[in-house]
This record gives sequence, C-alpha cells and structure tokens, in this order.
Amino acid sequence: MTSGASETQAARPLLAGRRALVTGASSGIGFAVARGLAAAGAAVAVNYHSHGEAAEGLAEEIRAAGGKAVALKADVSKEDDVAGLVDRTVAEFGGLDVLVANSGIQKDAPVGEMTLADWNAVISLNLTGQFLCCREAIRAFRAGPERQGGARGSIVCMSSVHELIPWAGHVNYAAAKGGVRMMMQTLAQEMAPERVRVNAIAPGAIRTPINKEAWGTPEALEKLLHLIPYGRIGEPEDVARAATWLASDEADYVTGVTLFVDGGMSLYPGFVGNG
Ligand code: NAD
Repeated sequence: MTSGASETQAARPLLAGRRALVTGASSGIGFAVARGLAAAGAAVAVNYHSHGEAAEGLAEEIRAAGGKAVALKADVSKEDDVAGLVDRTVAEFGGLDVLVANSGIQKDAPVGEMTLADWNAVISLNLTGQFLCCREAIRAFRAGPERQGGARGSIVCMSSVHELIPWAGHVNYAAAKGGVRMMMQTLAQEMAPERVRVNAIAPGAIRTPINKEAWGTPEALEKLLHLIPYGRIGEPEDVARAATWLASDEADYVTGVTLFVDGGMSLYPGFVGNG
C-alpha cells in the first residue's frame, strides 16, 4: 500500500455515486443484477413490466439498507415507454451512468409452427427493446458531464450463449440474441470516442422462471448438467457479479466484449470424448 488515498479508494464500493437502470428487474437475473448494483453503491431504477410488487419490494429493500432506488413500470418494447423510463430515471437521480438492458422473453416453437406474432414478439422485446434502451441511455449519457478516471456511461446488454450456439426450436430467440451481439459491438465501436462503454453478458443456464422446465425436475436438471462442464446450474447472482464488474470503472478498458457466464456451456461439451 503506497498511500492513504489508495487505501480509501480500495474501500470505496465499486459503483458508489453511479446511477443505474436495470430493465426487467422484477424477477430472475434482472432482480439479482439490480440488487447487486445497489449493494455496490449504485442508485438503481428497478424497471418492471409485470410483478410490480416484487419490483417495489426490491426498491424498498434497497432504500431500507440506506441505498437509493425507485421501481418504474414500462414496456421496453415500446418507444414512448422507454423514453419515459429513462426520463423518469434521470429526474429521480439527476442523471444516468449505467444501463443493464436485461428484459427478455421466449416464445418457442418449431419453425413450421412459429407464428409471425411469436417471431415479432421476441424480436420486438429482445432486440428492438434493447436498441431502444441503448439509444435512450446514450442520449442521457451525452446530457451528463465528462468524467475523469472512467467512462461517461456504461451499458451491459443481456445476451445469451445463443448469440453463439444455434438453438433448434427457438429461432426467434437465437436470432434476437445474435442481433444483440452485433448491435452491442457496433455501438461499442461507435460510442468509444465519446467514452461510453458497451458490453454484453452471455448467461448459460441460470435458475430463473424463463427456463424452469429445464431445471424444475431432477430428471430435467440431470439432462441439463450434461451441457455444463462446470457441473452446476448458474444462479442469478453469478450474472449479477459479472454485471457489477462490467458496469464499473474496474472494467474501464473493456468495451465491445461479450462475457460468457455459463460454466463452460459454450465450450462444446458434446465433444468431450467424441469427434
Ligand atoms: P425472467 O423471465 O425472470 O426475466 C425476464 C424479465 O423481463 C422479467 O422481469 C419480465 O417481467 C421482463 N419483461 C418481459 N416483458 C417485458 C416488457 N415488455 N418490458 C419490460 N420488461 C419485460 O428470466 P431471466 O432468465 O431472468 O431473463 C433475463 C434475461 O436473461 C433475458 O434477456 C434472457 O433472455 C436472458 N438469459 C437468461 C438465461 C437463463 O438461463 N435464465 C440464459 C441466457 C440469457
């Protein structure tokens, strides 16, 4: 340790003084991310579309622990809702520094039976919704001051291992996540000169409501574990820790990257002993 100043800096929570918006934060990964960012010192806008009581409960929990939080309802597939969501976050906290674009759904079907409505619903939320959130966040970052020692704003897009791994029976979802990857990289390239970082997280199988049929019974879990070299299902907190780091100045030189948080799912475990 060289000085008292660096000791003070080391003790400072990773996101102290930062203002964050997490979409789809009333359940699953978004809930854990919002809670994790708040524990790291950020003021957090907890967006929800349904289950408002869970979002309000989380915001109350954060405030009771001495943090700053507000629960905000919005459908992030709708342009006006997203603009209003970011405006309300800025009005509440005086600015925005971090976006975690997390909301997502699945509407699965074999291609011959997939309706246009199911295709559009997934693309509208999982891809277009992320674009709308990124665009509005970037506008809010630009309205804020330059920062010494860190990015002006940081975006974390919630992608999936299916930005890489094709997924039969889920063409709408895999196409949206593949789109998120290229959107993220393009925005990272475009925004780096303005000191805005844009990254993604690709979760593998995480224990949340979206994929309960994959882990909800011992048989299903056993089958799932064949796809996970690390030998356990992921928990939302695994993703929350990664998001907290990516959003923070600790990751200041990291942009345009997808961080896989998947216990090795993307390492082609089917090839172990085969091929
Ligand atoms: P989840 O169903 O618990 O969370 C999805 C969230 O999105 C919910 O809070 C839901 O209310 C919200 N949402 C749905 N429609 C919305 C809308 N129109 N506007 C705003 N919010 C809306 O599932 P999850 O697993 O926590 O999923 C979160 C993200 O993680 C998704 O983008 C998902 O694709 C991604 N992901 C999850 C896994 C996994 O294994 N659980 C793996 C890879 C990627």
